[in-house]
Amino acid sequence: MRILRTIAEVRAAVGAARGAGASVGLVPTMGAFHEGHLSLMRQARAETGLVVVSLFVNPTQFAPNEDLSTYPRDEHRDAALAEAEGVDILFAPSPAEVYPDGFATNVHVAGLTEVLDGASRGAHHFDGVATVVTKLFGIVTPDVAYFGQKDAQQVLVVRRVVRDLDLAVRIEACPIVREPDGLAMSSRNVYLDADARARATALNRALDAAEAVLGSGEHGGERILASARAVLVDASIDAEYLELRDAETLQPVRVVERDALLLVAARVGAARLIDNHLLRAGGAEESRGEAAA
Ligand code: AMP
Repeated sequence: MRILRTIAEVRAAVGAARGAGASVGLVPTMGAFHEGHLSLMRQARAETGLVVVSLFVNPTQFAPNEDLSTYPRDEHRDAALAEAEGVDILFAPSPAEVYPDGFATNVHVAGLTEVLDGASRGAHHFDGVATVVTKLFGIVTPDVAYFGQKDAQQVLVVRRVVRDLDLAVRIEACPIVREPDGLAMSSRNVYLDADARARATALNRALDAAEAVLGSGEHGGERILASARAVLVDASIDAEYLELRDAETLQPVRVVERDALLLVAARVGAARLIDNHLLRAGGAEESRGEAAA
């Protein structure tokens, strides 16, 4: 595996591989790898000839009051984990390489970015994500890019960018990888102390409870949400949002008649956590799109 710092080096490496007939897979990350990240790398390794993982803690998607300075960073460990997954290139640029002096462009997706995490974290968040992902697509020119369904809204925003800007990349959304007790893996889980770690399981349990209500034949959004809310209250968790939204448009859903996303965000101890389940209107099978760690 090569660790590359510059855009020019990545372009040269990708150009050579493509010249030799390889397809290119990209896994964008902010590092602090866990099984969720590794599952994306594995899928990229299985499907594409040259696997590029980007490792960049993107400052523009953090608000001033968020955890940019404390975000877990361990490039040495990450490099070893990526190498063990057969990754070909770890692209770990500096902020100045990504955002040189005079950088003035912003990729803004209207609508989808104004709700849920866009409302909670501010509009800058998805602008930062859309802009850096668009740059990564321009630098790496992947045939396929791999994202986690854990960040369901992010997947929809990225798909919209690709469609609206006619970018020649296929987006693959990969299942949420969870801890054995159901907590969705996240780099931010390291912020949880023992008490918060125990309470954090309530997020997935709340989504399970809601899904069980749907499974029992109740399609009313309010009833479904109420069952989830009760689990959160029981764990003393005050959700930033707990919402039922259309799985493609993110419009609010009152009655589950098509695929819907049940999404939650909450501060638990020192961590802000998000989770979601895909609720299939037609039945519960594969409804969580989950993978075991
Ligand atoms: P991050 O480093 O947090 O920006 O995440 C990089 C990629 O890994 C994103 O596409 C995330 O959605 C994905 N990811 C993070 N956590 C998980 C998880 N538990 N399961 C699957 N994918 C994940």
